[in-house]
Amino acid sequence: MKTPPMAGKILQHLETLTRYRDTSLLKVSLMNTMRSLTRVRDVRLHDVVESEGKCLLLLSAWSAGEAVYGGGDFPMEDQVVLVEPGSLMARAISLQHPVEDITDERHHVCFPIVLGGRVVAVFECESPGQISDYEQDVLDGVIGVFRNYLDLLRDSQHDTLTGLLNRKTFDLGFSGALAACSGDEVMAGKEQRHLASSHWLAVLDIDHFKSINDRFGHLYGDEVLILMANLMRRSFRRTDRLYRFGGEEFVVLMRNVDERGAHLKLEQFRQSVEQHPFPQVGRVTMSIGYSVILPTDTASAVVGKADEALYYAKHHGRNQVCGYGRLVTEGVLVPNQSNQDVEFF
Ligand code: GH3
Ligand code: MG
Ligand code: MG
Repeated sequence: MKTPPMAGKILQHLETLTRYRDTSLLKVSLMNTMRSLTRVRDVRLHDVVESEGKCLLLLSAWSAGEAVYGGGDFPMEDQVVLVEPGSLMARAISLQHPVEDITDERHHVCFPIVLGGRVVAVFECESPGQISDYEQDVLDGVIGVFRNYLDLLRDSQHDTLTGLLNRKTFDLGFSGALAACSGDEVMAGKEQRHLASSHWLAVLDIDHFKSINDRFGHLYGDEVLILMANLMRRSFRRTDRLYRFGGEEFVVLMRNVDERGAHLKLEQFRQSVEQHPFPQVGRVTMSIGYSVILPTDTASAVVGKADEALYYAKHHGRNQVCGYGRLVTEGVLVPNQSNQDVEFF
């Protein structure tokens, strides 16, 4: 039996869609799929983020004319916008159900993408004519496949205990983040306005964590890691990237901030950890080393420099924030040319 042409085309697109391990490429592929399988021309995918009780939208993939663009996995703070109250988008998010608006000139639909009972994204499309029932079914079906696949990808990118990004995601995604930092990544219609020298990588390591495990048991140790991740989410910006590197080590990538701002943010975080009453365990402290990200840096070189600063902090009293550049300028740290091999505590 021969496969009907449309079924073959749909299968081909689903195969392409589920080929990607990178969420930003997956989103661009979704835009292409929708445009190819239906007559909708204007398509957009918005990530939905909640912050301090507000619902925010981040445009992560979109069409412009015949081209489709993706915003990358490392968005700028100014790409985030508030959901307009009463808009089609706001209704789709609150109802967790597709919402449409039909006029003589156009058919406009917002499809919410729900994961774990929460709207994580909205697919928005506009068509000059009425979208047929068949096309609606195709859009619905493809969104279902996209949602399930996104769920799997997210699982593989995050650390199970803390929910932060995992080490594998750092290793796979850091070159992309570096490209964004060095201005190689072209945002459609947007200039790179930020200096390459204003991006930072910090390695954070809990002090004497082994003794927390020894004194209170592994479960309390795990609880400290979970609470630490929560403190990190609260302290850093939405657009910073937070990773659990392994054990009691974390990494933070910060963009578009000068050295003073980066140091201050890390210092504030260090203080919030020191002041946080961890149940049963009490006081926990953290040592932090950080370094600027240079456009020419490899991931292991930046991590190596931040790690050297962390090593210095560990050997000079712990519970402090040390910047690699500052230590080198002060002459207390000699630049190590072989920062390729990364060692952690
Ligand atoms: P320092 O101040 O020098 O960093 O000392 P430390 O004790 O924090 O560092 P060390 O590397 O000696 O010990 C880290 C400990 O973290 C040892 C290991 O058993 C524990 N650990 C690693 N992963 C986990 C985890 O997932 N859960 C718990 N509870 N403990 C973990
Ligand atoms: Mg430690
Ligand atoms: Mg360690």
